Amino acid sequence: MDKDKRLTTAFGIPVDDDQNSRTAGPRGPVLMEDVHLLEKLAHFDRERIPERVVHAKGAGAHGYFEVTADVTKYTCADFLSQVGKRTEVFVRFSTVGGEKGSPDAARDPRGFAVKFYTAEGNYDFVGNNTPVFFIRDPLKFPDFIHTQKRHPATNLPDPDMFWDFLSLTPESIHQVTILFSDRGTPATYRHMNGYSSHTFQWYNAEGQTFWVQYHFKTDQGIRNMTREEAQAMCAKDPDHATRDLYEAIAAGDPPSWTLEMQILTPEQARDFKWDIFDITKVWPHSEVPPVTVGRLVLDRKPVNYFAEVEQSAFCPGSLVPGIAPSPDKMLQARLFSYHDTHIHRLGPNHHLIPVNAARNATGASYQRDGMMRVDDNGAGGPNYWPNSFGGPAPDAGYRRPPVKVSGQADRHAFSHPNDDFEQAGMLYRRVMSDADRANLVGNIVDHLSGAQPRLQRRQTALFYKADPDYGIRVARGLGLDPADVEKLAAMSPEERAAATAS
Ligand code: NDP
Repeated sequence: MDKDKRLTTAFGIPVDDDQNSRTAGPRGPVLMEDVHLLEKLAHFDRERIPERVVHAKGAGAHGYFEVTADVTKYTCADFLSQVGKRTEVFVRFSTVGGEKGSPDAARDPRGFAVKFYTAEGNYDFVGNNTPVFFIRDPLKFPDFIHTQKRHPATNLPDPDMFWDFLSLTPESIHQVTILFSDRGTPATYRHMNGYSSHTFQWYNAEGQTFWVQYHFKTDQGIRNMTREEAQAMCAKDPDHATRDLYEAIAAGDPPSWTLEMQILTPEQARDFKWDIFDITKVWPHSEVPPVTVGRLVLDRKPVNYFAEVEQSAFCPGSLVPGIAPSPDKMLQARLFSYHDTHIHRLGPNHHLIPVNAARNATGASYQRDGMMRVDDNGAGGPNYWPNSFGGPAPDAGYRRPPVKVSGQADRHAFSHPNDDFEQAGMLYRRVMSDADRANLVGNIVDHLSGAQPRLQRRQTALFYKADPDYGIRVARGLGLDPADVEKLAAMSPEERAAATAS
């Protein structure tokens, strides 16, 4: 038999029979000496790794990013240093709240994560298909996610939990308005945009700094499903977006996105109307016109889903020279939380898994040992710094520009004078078409009608505050009294909570 075709144990020992266990006589019992059977069962018993708490259901593909415009005056990032320069990427798209087997067509934000294998290490862009988020303080994140998941007693998605939290969290109104528009059910992963949502810092070779936001705009065009189409798709093909991505690439139709950046100098940022570190707000395009930077193309399918997609791990803290975090509180917490979850899910050496490993740079740290250390573990080289045995040394040339911070250490609430309803109102009044508004109201009524009436009233008051027409239409759809909603909208958050406490 051809040696390469021979079945072996995990350790390469030839297997003679993979259909009949070793037994004492033809009717059993099974013998402990069948180590091939024991190995096969023991490995099978451990096939599942911890499911991601969020973004559990996803699909991915390989490709490249190509620079199409000179941005060296804004950043010294090596992979952005030259027009025409290409960098290998791996991208993972996902839903957020559902489990690993949940439908791709669920109403949910979509994750949009890109790993750039640059010559100065791996750069992870970990965005969503929405430019804003529900909350802006990380202390609220675990609570928020609990409300989007299953009820502790019934183990069912629970409209009361969902709307109770959101109606007590007015800063969520902008994201709720996007989520309940038809952008909450994108037709496929190929037909949606990807946004950094957070502000990041770029700095150039002279140390000048800029505040930036990323927008990956789909070249396939935006396409969404209506509520009815999405519900039908959940039943017909729960994996439709995973299938669509795989099949488009297999058919030689690689999807692409154009990267546009919004860029502010620190001087512009100082006088900017919106708090640029508040993830619930966008930077209006008329005030900060986007600059085209490059193109992302996905042209290679994964060969093995588990190896490449399930084990891929992205961290907003994986930033290459030329790119730095901003003080955005949500981003600051994500810098910790993603790495922490990967250590839990994949282990301390997840950076050695091929999809996560640096490809075009050489990793050279003093981290050693740990579960699944599968390279030479630093061989006989020094495992401490400083050393005088030729170990890798820090390079002060890569120092980031300093960032000025000040203030009293305290639990500070957001205190920017701009209200949380204006941008949701702009979206409703100015950006949406009549059909978009009708679908938005219908989608909200369909979902919110499952919650208790007091929660319906409290949430509808928030829609009213974004735009009276918006609130009144939702109120009518739910059979609520518009005058009552208007009264609730005029109250302070505390008064509104008290008026709808039971
Ligand atoms: P613009 O008219 O310049 O841009 C409107 C943006 O809204 C476009 O990027 C468009 O995306 C996007 N959009 C259209 N329909 C929806 C929807 N149902 N949900 C979410 N986004 C949608 O407006 P401004 O920049 O002045 O912002 C006005 C409002 O537009 C904001 O309050 C915000 O809600 C929304 N928006 C703004 C973005 C920004 O970065 N400025 C980004 C995304 C949304 P596309 O061109 O891809 O169709």
